[in-house]
Amino acid sequence: MSTIKEITIRCAVCGKKSRQIVLTSYSLFGEPDLDFRPPPMLRATMKYWLMECPSCGYVAKDIRRWPWATKKMLQQIYSGLDTSLPSAAQPFHKRALYCEHMGNTTGALRAYLCAAWVCDDGEEDTHAINLRMKCLELAQRKMNHCRRGKWRQYMQLIADLLRRTQNVTDLRKLDTGDRRLDYCTRELLIYQKSLAERHDFSAHSREEIDLEPFDDFFEKKTSDRADPSYELEAYLAQALSGHPEDRAEALAILDCIRPHNLNLPYYAFDAVLRLHKGTLVHMENPYNVAELAGVVTSEFLDMMETFVVPESIACERITLQSKTCMAILYELYTSPYIEQKWKNYEDAEKRLYLMRVEDLFSDDSYLIGFIKPRTP
Ligand SMILES: [Zn+2]
Repeated sequence: MSTIKEITIRCAVCGKKSRQIVLTSYSLFGEPDLDFRPPPMLRATMKYWLMECPSCGYVAKDIRRWPWATKKMLQQIYSGLDTSLPSAAQPFHKRALYCEHMGNTTGALRAYLCAAWVCDDGEEDTHAINLRMKCLELAQRKMNHCRRGKWRQYMQLIADLLRRTQNVTDLRKLDTGDRRLDYCTRELLIYQKSLAERHDFSAHSREEIDLEPFDDFFEKKTSDRADPSYELEAYLAQALSGHPEDRAEALAILDCIRPHNLNLPYYAFDAVLRLHKGTLVHMENPYNVAELAGVVTSEFLDMMETFVVPESIACERITLQSKTCMAILYELYTSPYIEQKWKNYEDAEKRLYLMRVEDLFSDDSYLIGFIKPRTP
């Protein structure tokens, strides 16, 4: 149970009196969210976490106390307020601006996070994402200057911020092999990564993770669960293999790591190769990429590009997989079925070229469309 009390107080900035509600007690029952948002009972008291003077707009935990700024400076700081935020988020944004101005990064981080939670409740997704990006910037700045215990907490927060801002690429890059991670933090990172691979960007509670209890004094518990990001990379590459069995195996495993619809380009790639089985590929007989062109994603194209090799490598020395990927990329980028945004992807059109390949068994030669590697 939470209890509140109404009081009349005088604002330290303007001297006017106002009625404010203060929280006198609360209960902490249940587990917090993955971004440390308190469990539901305390969460419901959010509107009492800060006071706002109705006369001058001063926001503080207790407006009876003087701010570290003049009235004029406060107004200047508050002029940065985003008035399109839901009204309940605005005091938190003011507090965040104030803390940032004062160089109080932790305070600013907390206030931005609170504002994001208010936006979550109001289903203001764009605002929530923007506020979390700000949190991410502050948390990353902060984590380089703190003790190990705090570092782990920032790591847990950053993982959630990356997922909630739909930044799967950077979340995948978080190193679960880092020796500074303890059992709990590593398990949390892996859980975040597996949620992100399923494109689940919503709020989740720590309750969902079955962290095994352990006695830190006698035993250093280690986490050895496989990191889905590393597994994913390997299977995505395998899904582009030249061997049908390898592709089938990879596709089946990928579907366990994330939903089938995210793997659609890889299925379409598989279909292209099955269709073309055994026949020679050249300009007059290209891969049929019409279906594939409709489902490509940046992830798929990026993965394909990892097999692209420079023109200077003699054609005979290029692996079959590289040849296949380069030829399919050529067909894709020149396909009438692909969206214009993909045709311009990574300067693709400028990197396309034709190569003459001698036929081993006749005097014929063929032109094959290939692609040069991206310039670093
Ligand atoms: Zn006031």
